[in-house]
Amino acid sequence: MINVTLITGDGIGPEIAEASRRCIDATGVDIKWEIAEAGIDVMAKTGTPLPQATIDSVRKNGVALKSPITTPVGTGFRSINVFLRQELGLYACLRPCKSYKGVRSRYNDIDLVLVRENTEDLYAGIEFEKGRDDTTELINWLNKHSKKQITSDSGISIKPISVSGTEKIVKFAFDYARANGRKKVTSVHKANIMKFTDGLWLEISRQVAKKYPDIEFEDRIVDNMCMQLVQKPELYDVLVLPNLYGDILSDLCAGLVGGLGVAPGANIGDKGAIFEATHGSAPKYAGQNKVNPCAVILSGVLMLRHLGKTAEADRLEKAVADVIAEGKNVTYDMKADRNDPTAVGTSQMADAIIKKLKTKN
Ligand code: NAD
Repeated sequence: MINVTLITGDGIGPEIAEASRRCIDATGVDIKWEIAEAGIDVMAKTGTPLPQATIDSVRKNGVALKSPITTPVGTGFRSINVFLRQELGLYACLRPCKSYKGVRSRYNDIDLVLVRENTEDLYAGIEFEKGRDDTTELINWLNKHSKKQITSDSGISIKPISVSGTEKIVKFAFDYARANGRKKVTSVHKANIMKFTDGLWLEISRQVAKKYPDIEFEDRIVDNMCMQLVQKPELYDVLVLPNLYGDILSDLCAGLVGGLGVAPGANIGDKGAIFEATHGSAPKYAGQNKVNPCAVILSGVLMLRHLGKTAEADRLEKAVADVIAEGKNVTYDMKADRNDPTAVGTSQMADAIIKKLKTKN
């Protein structure tokens, strides 16, 4: 039996968590789910959006499936998601973007994997608010030590990129490529402008690449990368990116394959992993049994692979792909007309996926 923490989230989170749990259980993998709360619903009950018990549960089990969480305003948490990743040292964010037949998209046959650094960069949360004493002190110091001058009414966000952080994530990307039969890793940066951060990233990327002669390596400047992905996505395989570019290009790539409804993800560290969709808690649809559960179910597929349950993962992914391809038992967002009355609800789509799994047993 495998212990897994299920973070049910808020908004559309709980209904998607339940649908996903049922689909994963239907693969036959013996999972003992430990239900844990996070988000605005538990904040109303306990005063914190991230109870210590939830962090402890993920630490203990080392694996969690997580539904989306609304980022609460004014709680001391910039984002619970970012906090969880930093607290648990989940330095790698893995986002496969794959075309599934039946999903409406401008592109076919996309099969990209984004590997995003999760802990550094402008996302590290080191910020200085305009007008505060410490901000003024920092600006004065910077103006004294730099030829470039910062205007006194500026806010400042700091962009740290380290040798150790870059080494770890680029190595992760190459190891992933090797383990999953991928041919090429592309390192994305803006080294021509930010020489001491992105420049360092590129230098370390090149050093790490030398240790993987069996995998092709190349680099791209982030703006060019965006255009290339839109024009020739078939040229790319595994992309490794610093935090902020990774965030932006994840959504771009989700768009290439037809949107957030089929964009799974994983946050992985040395001591644990949290599997979650790219999309958020879509509060306007909460409790309506309406939204697409596939992104969290496909995150569950990544989780099964991480747990070494490859055959079960493949079966679940195929069941999801088959239901999407048939286009009958799918949620509104997968219909040509979003008001199509034949669209089914979240739990009915999960039922159809489970039925597919059972017929293939
Ligand atoms: P969102 O992803 O929740 O919703 C954007 C739109 O995408 C929705 O209006 C909806 O039309 C569509 N959508 C999202 N998920 C869908 C699904 N499963 N099926 C069908 N349609 C779907 O993004 P947002 O509105 O910017 O964010 C809402 C909240 O979620 C915010 O508080 C944000 O901080 C949070 N968020 C959380 C996570 C996470 O938990 N990892 C990720 C992103 C955003």
